[in-house]
Amino acid sequence: MPPHNRFKVSVTKDHIVFASAHFITFAGHRCETLHGHNYRTRVTVEGGVDPETHFVIDFAELKQMMKRLVDELDHRVLLPLQNPKVDVKEQGDSVTVAYEGAPRYVFPKRDCALLPVPNTTVEMLAQYLAGRARRELERTAGHTVNIAAIEVEVEENFGQSATYRESLE
Ligand SMILES: [Zn+2]
Repeated sequence: MPPHNRFKVSVTKDHIVFASAHFITFAGHRCETLHGHNYRTRVTVEGGVDPETHFVIDFAELKQMMKRLVDELDHRVLLPLQNPKVDVKEQGDSVTVAYEGAPRYVFPKRDCALLPVPNTTVEMLAQYLAGRARRELERTAGHTVNIAAIEVEVEENFGQSATYRESLE
């Protein structure tokens, strides 16, 4: 893609939010207690403009796509499926969570988002959402030609965020 035909378009945080509960584990034997955040996200798509429409991607389409992805997390407990210290098991309509072998929580399954991440840090949430967004964009024919990268920022408190960039080139 020629450098003069590269743009960045963003949909910012106020449109793409989710309120979720989580806890993270630290090095050693420390684990947070359950608490919540009003997470805010920003998605940025980098690419060339379409010669007919002169946009990289339709904002409405980008917003709807991200809204769908964060709605899966909204009002749920975010649980990591790849954390070696946290054991998450589905049992009927429940999800049981143990930390270092000791039972800790039982949640209704419908209130949980089981995520393929090692810890529910903003870094891992940003990477997860960027990967989901990339696959969504790749499913939509025509876009992959123009899109060079996708970037997702997840903020858990004001001024405290992580950004992950995934290149499609
Ligand atoms: Zn937290």
